[in-house]
Amino acid sequence: MLYTQDKVIVPLGGFVHFPRQNLRTPGPTPVPDDIVQAMSEPMINHRGPEFLELINDSTEKLKQVFMTQNDLFILTASGTGALEASVVNTLSPGDDVIALTAGAFGDRFCDLAEAYGANVKRINFEWGSAIDPEVVRRELNKLPSTKAVMVTHNETSTGVTHDLEAISAIVKDEFDKLLLVDAVSSSGCIPLPVDGWKCDMVGTASQKGFMIPPGLSFISMSPDAWVAQKESTMPKFYFDLDAAREYLAIGQTPWTPNLSALYGLNLALDQMLEEGIENIFARHTQIGDFTRQGAKDLGLELLCQDPARCSDTVTAIKVPSGIDGAKLTTLMRKEHDVVLAGGQGKLSGQIFRIGHLGAVDESDIQEVFTALEKVLPQVGFRA
Ligand code: PLP
Repeated sequence: MLYTQDKVIVPLGGFVHFPRQNLRTPGPTPVPDDIVQAMSEPMINHRGPEFLELINDSTEKLKQVFMTQNDLFILTASGTGALEASVVNTLSPGDDVIALTAGAFGDRFCDLAEAYGANVKRINFEWGSAIDPEVVRRELNKLPSTKAVMVTHNETSTGVTHDLEAISAIVKDEFDKLLLVDAVSSSGCIPLPVDGWKCDMVGTASQKGFMIPPGLSFISMSPDAWVAQKESTMPKFYFDLDAAREYLAIGQTPWTPNLSALYGLNLALDQMLEEGIENIFARHTQIGDFTRQGAKDLGLELLCQDPARCSDTVTAIKVPSGIDGAKLTTLMRKEHDVVLAGGQGKLSGQIFRIGHLGAVDESDIQEVFTALEKVLPQVGFRA
């Protein structure tokens, strides 16, 4: 026996079995059965004709979801790999970068650029509130040498979607700087017209809105980003997108790709395009509204105070004062098989989060509220 934990039993060397739960973390998200089945197809030669068809078809479909004509690459990595690719392919050590952050993932994007030697000016906004585009204009005026602006479109740690359209209008139209976007928890769920908003690099991941397991990330790259790539001196190897472009031209990836995830992706993209990207956005808006209203109906308070900026993929709810948030999420999991996410960084213990992205409908969220109705009084909460 490797370990026994609640109902999960993992025999050593045996078949790992986890009972199905209502997984309401903001990624990984549940994977529909037909996609699971697609992923069990046999391996193919990733230097052969079948792979050429798979990668070309998947890339073209992904471009439709991204709403872009830009180059787009499928990387075998989690979302951070795509974000790392955006940094190391456009910047050089010492480049001035303005990084907008209002949460744990905004901070991580800053850390990433700093790790590679960029001269990062962090512009901090309160966690739970939205980035103020006016501040972006002011900072760009103060730092004309800025090479790029980095921003997280949807801050998963706080449940806030920043006004990327307004930020882009300033960064691109007024100042003509590179715009690097973390769209890990927004792409394929919340409107982000990559070309319409002139985003130079947009990175996202498979385990969020794309209904497949972790293991792939996607990155789009504009012509301006390619110009920067030619000048960029940051070290790069695995995430060198010049190599990715060369290989994609012959229907391959430079390194061995996660084939199983790619099988799932291809089917997921078919389903997404069949549903229609606008319909997917509308479904997420509806489910976001449903979640926020349900939380308020239980007497709970949202972290996001501006209804116009509350995220349609994840809702952060304040742990009521005097309540043990860890006990609440543990009871939800143990007694109701509902898996919620806690707070990250300085919000640890102060919030819990409900993910509502990807393959999700109202009945999944209703189950959360039905369970919360029972658990909240158990932890001592009276509305
Ligand atoms: N950025 C955001 C907004 C995220 O939500 C996440 C993951 O939750 C990441 C970055 C990191 O992605 P990954 O864990 O796939 O590397």
